[in-house]
Amino acid sequence: MTLIQFNRPPRTGRETSYVLEAMDSLQMSGDGPFGRRCQTWFEQHLGCPRALLTPSCTHALEMCGFLLDIQPGDEVILPSFTFPSTANAFALRGARLVFVDIRPDTLNLDEAKLEAAVTERTRAIVLVHYAGVGCEMDDILAIAERHGVVVIEDAAQCIDATYKGRPLGTFGALSTFSFHETKNVTSAGEGGLLVINDESLVRRAEIFREKGTNRSEFFRGEVAKYSWVDLGSSYLPGEAQSAYLWGQLESLAEITNDRLATWTYYQQQLSELAASGLIQLPDIPAHCLHNGHIFHLRVADLDTRTRLLKFLLDREIWAVFHYVPLHSATAGEKYGHFAGEDIYTTKESERLVRLPLWYGMPTAFKERVVAGVAAFFNQSK
Ligand SMILES: *Cc1c(COP(=O)(O)O)cnc(C)c1O
Repeated sequence: MTLIQFNRPPRTGRETSYVLEAMDSLQMSGDGPFGRRCQTWFEQHLGCPRALLTPSCTHALEMCGFLLDIQPGDEVILPSFTFPSTANAFALRGARLVFVDIRPDTLNLDEAKLEAAVTERTRAIVLVHYAGVGCEMDDILAIAERHGVVVIEDAAQCIDATYKGRPLGTFGALSTFSFHETKNVTSAGEGGLLVINDESLVRRAEIFREKGTNRSEFFRGEVAKYSWVDLGSSYLPGEAQSAYLWGQLESLAEITNDRLATWTYYQQQLSELAASGLIQLPDIPAHCLHNGHIFHLRVADLDTRTRLLKFLLDREIWAVFHYVPLHSATAGEKYGHFAGEDIYTTKESERLVRLPLWYGMPTAFKERVVAGVAAFFNQSK
C-alpha cells in the first residue's frame, strides 16, 4: 500500500515554465515582473492599498511588529492555539504576550473573553483565522476601536476565504499570508505576504523591506536616486519564487474547489460517526466561507488521539495534530501569560486530529482515510 502523505505541495503544471521565464528574463531579484504581477493580483482581490511579498508569513508578522513600533512592555493579545510565529514577531520587540482562550466551535480567539484581557498597555490584538474560518470580526473590531487598539490578522491559512462576504485579511490595519508548502498555494516551498490596509503604513513598509532605502519609489520614478532613509532589512522573495506562486494564483479557484470537495467528502462520510458521538466534526458559522485548508476532527481525549494516529499510520495513512498551546511551551511561559481561564485551548488541542488533505488527492486515498477512521472506532466499540 502506498503511504497517503499528510500534505503534498500543490502543483498546477505551469510553475516550471514561469520559473524558466523568470530565469530567461535575467531579472531574478525581488519585485520583478512576476513579483509585481502577484502583488497587483492581491491588491485587486483584496482591495487593499498595498500588498508586499515576503520570504515567509513569519517575516510579514515581524514587519507588523516593526511597523506598529511595538515597544518593550507593550502588551499584545493573541490566541495560545496557534503557530509560534504569531507570537515570536512581537516577543522579538519586547512585547508581553497575553493569551486569550479560544471558542470550542471554530477554535478561534473567543471574542467574548477578549475585552477582559485588554489593559492600558495593550497595543495590538493579533487574530488567527484557524483553518481559514473567520474570527467574529464585528465584535472584535468594536472592542479594538473602543480601546484604541490595533488589529492584525495572521491570515496565514486564509487565501480565498471570507467573513460576511469580505475577504479575510482585509479587516486589520495589517494582515499576513503564508505560501509555505503546507498552505493552499505555495511560492516553491517558502513565502508570505504582508497586506497593508492602513495606508499610512505603506511607505515605511516599502522602505523597511528594501534595506531601509527608498528604492521602491526610485523604481516607480518618484525620486531621482535612492538612499538609506530609515531602519530596514531585506524582506523580498526572489523572482523564481514569485513565478512559481503565479503559476498557482492563476488556478486558485480550482485549487480551492478541489480542497473544498475533499473537505466536504470527509464531512459527509464521517457524519455517522459524529452522530454516534465518537468524534466531533468542524462547525463552520454560516457567515464564514472557508477554503478547505484544514480538515480536523476531535476525539474523546489525548489517549484516544495517540491510538488513532498510530492506527492510521499502521495503515499507511499519515494524520497529524497541532498545536502545542503557546502558553505551555518554554518560550510562551517566558514571554507571556494566559489571561483568564484556559477552558478550551489545552483541552481541544489535545484531542484534535488533522486528516490528509491536498490539491489533487485521488478518490481512492480519500476513501482509505475515511475507512481507516471508521475501522478504528468500530474495533474499539
Ligand atoms: C503557517 C503559519 C504561519 C507561518 O507561516 P510561514 O510562511 O511558514 O512563516 C504563521 N501563522 C499561522 C497561523 C500559520 O498557519
